[in-house]
Amino acid sequence: MVLVEKKQYPFHRVCGEYVSNEVVDFLKRNNIYPNSGHSELNEFALTSIAGKKATVPLELGGFGISRYNFDFFLFKKAQEVGVHIVTDAVDSISYIDDQDEFVIDLRKSGQLHSKIAIGAYGKRSNIDRNMNRPFFSRLSPYIGVKYHIKYDHPINQVALHNFEGGYCGINAIEEGKMNLCYLGERSALKKHGSIPEMERNVLHRNPYLKKIFMEAEFLWEKPEVINEISFETKKPVEGHILMCGDAAGMITPLCGNGMAMAIHSSNILVEDISNYFHKHNDRMQLEKSYRSKWNKLFKTRLSIGRTIQNLFGSVWLSELSVGMCKIKPLSRYLVSLTHGKPF
Ligand SMILES: Cc1cc2nc3c(=O)[nH]c(=O)nc-3n(C[C@H](O)[C@H](O)[C@H](O)COP(=O)(O)OP(=O)(O)OC[C@H]3O[C@@H](n4cnc5c(N)ncnc54)[C@H](O)[C@@H]3O)c2cc1C
Repeated sequence: MVLVEKKQYPFHRVCGEYVSNEVVDFLKRNNIYPNSGHSELNEFALTSIAGKKATVPLELGGFGISRYNFDFFLFKKAQEVGVHIVTDAVDSISYIDDQDEFVIDLRKSGQLHSKIAIGAYGKRSNIDRNMNRPFFSRLSPYIGVKYHIKYDHPINQVALHNFEGGYCGINAIEEGKMNLCYLGERSALKKHGSIPEMERNVLHRNPYLKKIFMEAEFLWEKPEVINEISFETKKPVEGHILMCGDAAGMITPLCGNGMAMAIHSSNILVEDISNYFHKHNDRMQLEKSYRSKWNKLFKTRLSIGRTIQNLFGSVWLSELSVGMCKIKPLSRYLVSLTHGKPF
């Protein structure tokens, strides 16, 4: 097995760094659970722009760990079990019909030939552009910004603070550090000219966020920033490539389980690919089986995530969402709709 990754591990990545516990059994079973260096998260708090707050227990919960550490840990585990890792960018992936195989063009290291190609390249990549995937040409209105901070925040709590046009999460990761990460609007950044100005004028209007930004110790000189975050519908199989994680569809970050979905989709892929090689050798059957399992597990979750996303960002809707969160059975139900079961 060959894994092509364009960046050199370890590196920081914009992410709330909350991993839903639905993956813990799977990680433990496969000896890829980080036994130390993370925090346990079992409470959720939500605040409105005007500063109203609701707190609910998280039934399944999750753990907080930086992507810097978690991804590097997984990278080393992959190396240990013999995955050949090539540090290079994939330029294009073509399926050659008469040879029934893929040709993968790498930027620096030539070509790879393979029977199976898994697209696990995240939410948006040059590979999507080369394949003319429809979402690629549509601009996304969102930006993502991440900091690591030191701040006196409950160690077991993941909090989501609303602001106009977005929301900002805070939760503990490792070594007494907190992740502070928000999804905001590109138009707000354009209007206010810089990230600090946008934070002062937009985020600080929520008193909880103002307090964090005024009192926290920021551990980096600059935040990690990304744009082009699209939650549009994608297909789990395109050009015979088996899409996995965000490349198959991205759940809105407020659901806090994009990583769990990426891990879960890789789990169903392993089963289908193993059946392809060891049982039927039928590409159509492989694709049909993966597509159907993917849709069953994730399609509804993604669309509920998109609907809940619309409850954030405006003053009255953010008040309403805090009100809804105070109704415990309703908040429990909403959380359960966006989360999967342990696997
Ligand atoms: C603001 C924000 C907050 C979030 N918070 C959370 C959270 O708290 N919890 C959670 O579970 N999820 C969260 N998510 C979602 C989560 O980050 C993703 O769902 C998850 O990382 C998807 O994993 P993936 O493997 O599909 O893609 P990625 O983690 O993006 O990995 C894709 C990899 O492919 C590489 N790559 C891309 N193109 C190429 C190429 N052409 N050649 C070679 N390599 C390539 C990239 O360098 C990258 O390392 C958040 C997302 C955002 C935007």
